[in-house]
Amino acid sequence: MKALQLRQWKSDPVLVDVPKPEPGPGQVVVRIGGAGACHSDIHVMHEFEPGQMPWRLPFTLGHENAGWVDSVGAGVTGLEPGQAVAVYGPWGCGACPRCLLGIETYCENPAAAPVPAGGGGLGLDGGMAEYLLVPAARHVVPLPDGLEPAVAAPLTDAALTPYHAVRRSWPKLAPGNTAVVIGIGGLGHLAVQILKATTAARVIAVDSRQEALDVATSHGADLTLLSGEQTANDIRDATGGRGADAVFDCVGAEKTIALGLAAGRMMGDFTIIGIGGGTAPVGFFSVPYEYSVQTTYWGSRPELVEVLDLAARGLIRAETTIFSLDDAVEAYHRLEKGQLTGRAVIVP
Ligand code: NAD
Ligand code: ZN
Ligand code: ZN
Repeated sequence: MKALQLRQWKSDPVLVDVPKPEPGPGQVVVRIGGAGACHSDIHVMHEFEPGQMPWRLPFTLGHENAGWVDSVGAGVTGLEPGQAVAVYGPWGCGACPRCLLGIETYCENPAAAPVPAGGGGLGLDGGMAEYLLVPAARHVVPLPDGLEPAVAAPLTDAALTPYHAVRRSWPKLAPGNTAVVIGIGGLGHLAVQILKATTAARVIAVDSRQEALDVATSHGADLTLLSGEQTANDIRDATGGRGADAVFDCVGAEKTIALGLAAGRMMGDFTIIGIGGGTAPVGFFSVPYEYSVQTTYWGSRPELVEVLDLAARGLIRAETTIFSLDDAVEAYHRLEKGQLTGRAVIVP
């Protein structure tokens, strides 16, 4: 079968032929219906130093996956061939306290996980291929009726990650309060929708590209701002001088982090989602009183179930551009150059 593999650090992936995987005991092989192209892959392929992550090359990319059950290994019950499923991407040990809660992102026994600090497409073979080997049946989540794998794939990360972040800030997002999303790409356009669907807060979207802001408007953003030197002031003006109750930075660069620190309200939350290399200088007098500055990584399996429910009920929807496996490298190039809106999904 065809697979898009990262074979060398600091390089583009290549399309190669690899054997179709067979499920061992407890495992599931999924026929891929869609694999999202995440900006994190750009960081992994082009920016990570060899040895930075405890991962061996080569591996197939694609950590946002959905499809249909192809075959199951011995001992797997409750899954039928042909059944539509999403794949919960972070693969932990399954037995530590965090994994037992379904928070496999923060597995506390990574040496016992299929790959430390990763999953399919992040250190192990992922879904940019015709088939994906899922090492444990608990990572396979049935899709609710009406959700096609190609539109469900981005939900497993591009929606799950901002959902996990927004959920943590729900108490700060009461009516009358304001949320800001910086970076309206794959994650950000879903963050806007998740905020609208699960809170009564006003939503301000910030991006450096007008096309991205237009997507935010079409999904109900109350105000959009082209990013620049004045953006923090614009946010203060739009909030009666108070600042934003929760800022979600889906870029994580030096400038966007500076914006998140400058635009917040006392007692607010600032969540750094993007891994753009910026850092936040936080001191008693350098941020608003009781401002919580936090990072976040992906989400939990129970949260994925909630995200899929939001999508099945039409409350959130990933905007997708479909590419074939042959065009997957081109999809990444366009993502890197900021020429996409929503999410690129590879359909083999
Ligand atoms: P994307 O390329 O689809 O979207 C990024 C958006 O940010 C684009 O619309 C771009 O125009 C905008 N942007 C870039 N620089 C900007 C700036 N200085 N000011 C304003 N807007 C700017 O990327 P994505 O796939 O949505 O990923 C976003 C970030 O989140 C990446 O760094 C990715 O690695 C990271 N990520 C983190 C997690 C996590 O668990 N924390 C999960 C997935 C992705
Ligand atoms: Zn990702
Ligand atoms: Zn674990």
